[in-house]
Amino acid sequence: MSTENKFDLIILGGGCAGLSLAQRLSQAGQQCPKVLVIEGRSCYQNDRTWCFFAGGTTQAQDLVRYRWPAVAVTHGQVRVEVDCQNNPYQMIEAETFYTKALEQLVENQQVTLKLGCEVLTLERQVTSTWCVNTSLGVFEASSVIDTRPVANPIFLGPQLWQSFYGQVVQVEQDCFDPTCVEFMRFDPDTEYGVSFTYLLPFNKRQALIETTVFCSQPVDQVTLTARLQSVIGRLLPGQSVSLQRQEYAVLPMGVIDSARSECNGLVRVGLTAGAARPSSGYAFQRIQHWATLCAQSILVGGPVLAHAKEPWLARSMDSLFLRVLRQHPEQGPTIFMAMFKNMRIARIVRFMNDEATWLDRFLLVKSMPLWVFLTQVPFALFRRP
Ligand SMILES: Cc1cc2nc3c(=O)[nH]c(=O)nc-3n(C[C@H](O)[C@H](O)[C@H](O)COP(=O)(O)OP(=O)(O)OC[C@H]3O[C@@H](n4cnc5c(N)ncnc54)[C@H](O)[C@@H]3O)c2cc1C
Repeated sequence: MSTENKFDLIILGGGCAGLSLAQRLSQAGQQCPKVLVIEGRSCYQNDRTWCFFAGGTTQAQDLVRYRWPAVAVTHGQVRVEVDCQNNPYQMIEAETFYTKALEQLVENQQVTLKLGCEVLTLERQVTSTWCVNTSLGVFEASSVIDTRPVANPIFLGPQLWQSFYGQVVQVEQDCFDPTCVEFMRFDPDTEYGVSFTYLLPFNKRQALIETTVFCSQPVDQVTLTARLQSVIGRLLPGQSVSLQRQEYAVLPMGVIDSARSECNGLVRVGLTAGAARPSSGYAFQRIQHWATLCAQSILVGGPVLAHAKEPWLARSMDSLFLRVLRQHPEQGPTIFMAMFKNMRIARIVRFMNDEATWLDRFLLVKSMPLWVFLTQVPFALFRRP
């Protein structure tokens, strides 16, 4: 094989995780190893938005497009609005993220991004290197980071799928409040488990409106589109609505078995390999944190890193929480409403951002209807592996 096709590190998938790591490595200038990023898409589109609360170790602040000082949760006639000015809820558009990443990658010749290149197979060779067969040729490296999502991740304990479909809509009359995110507006039915509308107002006439379900199986886009149409009909009666952009996702919720993530210089990371927060499916912040740690390790000659394992307490509590949502979806609205009503927002933010203290976790459980959780404890304790 020509030296042109040999690399120190190959990253499979140039999405959020792949580009985040490649960016950090490219910033190291001459110290950067020879890196190849292989991406199936031939061009990037504004295919998603990443939202999260600003917090302690929040990164990528320069990419943020919108910030909101308040979030609200609503169930029936009850609405709880919470001031989050100190940790605003914020949004990054994928387009901005991709553009900045590509600009940075071209600045370092040690990093190559191959677009429109499909990974076909990955083989370990007798020389202890990895051979990556792609639609554009064969490449070799001693280390490989695989960020490609898998359809069936292995969960440790209960799992749910968070499926959502959203549209950025433009209307002709003022009707959104751009100072407050509708975080969860619960639907009356539990046909698909816990379901709610999520609304990000960009201004008085433009918003991203999503219908989201937490369900034991992924829910397809057609079903969610029909649900969203009826939500939009209810929310914006008589308005002429024009569609600007759409997004669909299926995110894993549950503790993913990361024991198999590392093997002989091959590491699996990303959404279905431990990046998603078990109880929320949010992954952007975790990916940024992982990318920083992994780049630091590589740059000092250390190993490629997988996502950190969930600490025992976090894992147990997340599993219990998911078990409750699975068994009692009708209690979902009560649980989330209680959380936002009874907890200080700083604690909720730490919980969402993976920075919860023991006290935060204790108070979180205390803020909720305890009997629901107690009924699930025996199942959690005596479940078979
Ligand atoms: C619509 C949407 C909205 C989301 N919103 C949020 C949010 O608000 N907050 C949050 O924290 N998280 C959010 N997430 C979850 C998570 O942050 C994203 O899914 C994130 O993009 C995951 O990064 P990743 O690198 O694991 O996967 P991706 O970004 O999907 O990257 C994987 C890459 O691998 C490539 N690939 C796959 N197979 C091959 C192959 N065979 N050959 C070559 N390339 C291949 C894909 O083209 C893709 O670019 C959202 C996800 C989606 C889909």
